[in-house]
Amino acid sequence: MNHIEDLCKFLDSSPVNFCAAENVCQRLDTAGFARLDMRDAWQLKPGGRYYVVQNGSAVFAFIAGYGPAWSGFDIIAAHSDSPGFRIKPKCEIDVEGMTKLNTEVYGGPIFYTWFDRPLSIAGRVALRGEDPLRPKFATVNMKRPLLVIPHLAIHFNRQVNEGNKLSAQKDMLPVAALGCKEPKGLIRRLVAEELGVDTDDILDYELSLYPCENAVVTGVDGEMICSGRLDDLSMVHAGLTALLATADVASEHTRVLAVFDNEETGSGTKQGAASPILEHILRRIVLSAGSEEDYMRAVASSFMISADNAHGLHPNYVEKYDPTNHPVLGGGPCIKVNANCKYMTDADSAAAFRRVCELAGVPCQSFVNHSDVAGGSTLGNILTSKIPLRGVDMGALVWAMHSACETASTADHIYTIRAFTTFYGLYPAK
Ligand code: ZN
Repeated sequence: MNHIEDLCKFLDSSPVNFCAAENVCQRLDTAGFARLDMRDAWQLKPGGRYYVVQNGSAVFAFIAGYGPAWSGFDIIAAHSDSPGFRIKPKCEIDVEGMTKLNTEVYGGPIFYTWFDRPLSIAGRVALRGEDPLRPKFATVNMKRPLLVIPHLAIHFNRQVNEGNKLSAQKDMLPVAALGCKEPKGLIRRLVAEELGVDTDDILDYELSLYPCENAVVTGVDGEMICSGRLDDLSMVHAGLTALLATADVASEHTRVLAVFDNEETGSGTKQGAASPILEHILRRIVLSAGSEEDYMRAVASSFMISADNAHGLHPNYVEKYDPTNHPVLGGGPCIKVNANCKYMTDADSAAAFRRVCELAGVPCQSFVNHSDVAGGSTLGNILTSKIPLRGVDMGALVWAMHSACETASTADHIYTIRAFTTFYGLYPAK
């Protein structure tokens, strides 16, 4: 299977963060990675393949280096979550026999793109377990169209194409059923049936909506890919593909793939980049063979690629972009720069990443915001407030970031995998 077909498969089977994390774990299991528990004592071997799962939605994979304990970490970081709508605890609302669901916005989706398309439900369910403080979890993916958010007909709002403000609470609620005899508890019953469990055993859930359309390659020569969640699952896929491609190559450095959750809401959870989770894992890797000083030395010898998608020049809105730094889809991975340090990139780390691309034989671009546009932020800077890592913020380009269907370049994805593969192979064991 080629990388683009594999990316499509990964995107289609990862409609929400929990499914994405589960898919990453499955691929790691297949490649012989052993799952570690943060509650256990760790015994690590040079060349050993390991991963840690946090909250079922973040995954930290690493291949222990052959170098001394103070050898650096080569880290690629990305995120598993994407903007959308989450189903509230008591969710069913009956309107004249029509059952709609009460939802809450997660992150910053483009509301318009969620209308009038079949939607399904995925997430995780917490089930009654023996330890009251530790429920059992089941990931659920309904995999079939169940809902739709119907737009108001133009006849009720003739000005709709001149700008139409949308309310998350009024306009965006999906319809699940017509003529349902018992709307109360409908979603719990549906999920219980899917999982083959008793409704009473479902203690809680985190369920989200997702568009049912699969990823597709488009463009006259197949230059583009359209899918939900390209931000940031395409970077997760590129990082994972590179890690697995280089897993058999012995390295001095410990190679790390960090897939965080909750980037879209500011990373402030125990599974997000603002928590000390990565710091704890890196420290434990070093302490299993060395000292606290070795950890400090290892951090000083490390480099991180914070991989999160960037904005490619949109042919209909060129005026929104910087006049001299407006990277284009298909032009290669893109370094993100910001004078006010919203990105971790500096001349040092940009130079390092340019060299990686040069060695990989792939083109490399730069993104800077138009000076009158505020722009976004990402993982890199949040992480450096926890661990003083050198590193670069970069990403492959997309159009319509946070749309239910984003567009990226197929060539850029191949370039990014090549750059990441080169990065993980920089320090072969002596
Ligand atoms: Zn992102």
